[in-house]
Amino acid sequence: MVDHTADTWRPDSWKDKPVSQQIKYGDPQALQQVVDKLCQLPPLVSSSEVDTLKARIAEAQAGKRFIVQGGDCAESFSDCNADAISQKVRSLLSLSLLVSQKTRQPITRIGRIAGQYAKPRSELTETQGETTLTSYRGDLVNHVHFTESARTPDPARMLEGYSYASLTLNYIRSLLEAELDELFNLEAEVNSLHDLAQQKELHKSLRNFRDALSLFHQFNGKQTAHRNLTEFYTSHEALHLHYEQALTRKANNARWYNLSTHFPWVGMRTVQSESAHLEYLRGIANPIAIKVGPTVRPQDLVELCRWINPDNEAGRLTLIQRFGHEQIADKLPAMIQAIQDADIRVLWSCDPMHGNTQVSANGYKTRDYSHIQSELQQAFDIHQENDSHLGAVHLEMTGEAVMECVGSSYTVKHQELGKAYTSLVDPRLNLSQAFELIDSLTLSQSK
Ligand code: PEP
Ligand code: MN
Repeated sequence: MVDHTADTWRPDSWKDKPVSQQIKYGDPQALQQVVDKLCQLPPLVSSSEVDTLKARIAEAQAGKRFIVQGGDCAESFSDCNADAISQKVRSLLSLSLLVSQKTRQPITRIGRIAGQYAKPRSELTETQGETTLTSYRGDLVNHVHFTESARTPDPARMLEGYSYASLTLNYIRSLLEAELDELFNLEAEVNSLHDLAQQKELHKSLRNFRDALSLFHQFNGKQTAHRNLTEFYTSHEALHLHYEQALTRKANNARWYNLSTHFPWVGMRTVQSESAHLEYLRGIANPIAIKVGPTVRPQDLVELCRWINPDNEAGRLTLIQRFGHEQIADKLPAMIQAIQDADIRVLWSCDPMHGNTQVSANGYKTRDYSHIQSELQQAFDIHQENDSHLGAVHLEMTGEAVMECVGSSYTVKHQELGKAYTSLVDPRLNLSQAFELIDSLTLSQSK
């Protein structure tokens, strides 16, 4: 075991490293007051929940479980209401049923929820006409309206974000207490899907699922069935390090945990070696994820994994690959090989969204369903061909009937993108598209 106490890591040692995507506040004192206040507030999750998730991820690494991670690109404070939260939770639960049928494995669900409020941006400023302002950086930082006052970073928003995350999590916990029949009463959701042929297929899947559910009840008892089918964890990008640091607490086992979420990840824009974000993540005991894009060199990835998980602890490290449908076949095999040669334990997850973003002629950021489908199918195939396995999927999706990604049998056309586009940053799959995506996969288990 590495002796972490002899280390130079502290919850704020990230401040000694270069901070990319840094948020510039005008008043350092106001910032410090907010951080001090956050430090006094109770944690949002417990270290034992975090440890349980790590054990689940370890099972997925071993090929005995599959992880479904999904939700908004950017959660908004105004989404903190009963209907929106219930829809998000139910859509992830329902999707996970299909994944479970497809993979024939137990599933663990992780929402991009209850704290996905801070965004990295490729462009740190935005220009409209004559005016240039700070880009929208997520509700934790500023407001999406294009005015100077709305876009000025305000540290008090961190306290608001903490409160909204806490209210969201509280409601999720109460929702999950409901009876399974109520939680998985998905007919309404399926009936709302536009494509009729798909509805028929999904009704069939749900009927199969109900049969499986009653068998599961019979063999395992109601309580176990409920526990297994509703276990739910939260995640967000650990981008705003002042916020993350303030919610970092020492547990009884003397290890530091980020207790604002179960599963923090580091995004592609903050993953440079020696970065403040990696420095922060290396000292916490949570399971963590790293987004891996096409420019990462396999040997650098190996070194990063060794540095951030020196004990090669099971469940600690998830690599979320996001190459894009055109590059995955070229990039992924060498990475798998390098990780295997170095005997490093990771869970491989595929994010088929972020490498496939494009801007439509009418100015909307979008993604083509066929590119998403292609990348995800290739991810399963390439892992299998290389004696590895994909154990997780990471989606930007919503239960709302949005039209943000084009294509699929739901057929959203480019010219329709303005009709139902509510994402604050990146385009999400609607539930119909997400169901179709899972349904479309050919896996070795189902080949
Ligand atoms: C995201 O997950 O919303 C994101 C910004 O991803 P990436 O860091 O992979 O671009
Ligand atoms: Mn995104």
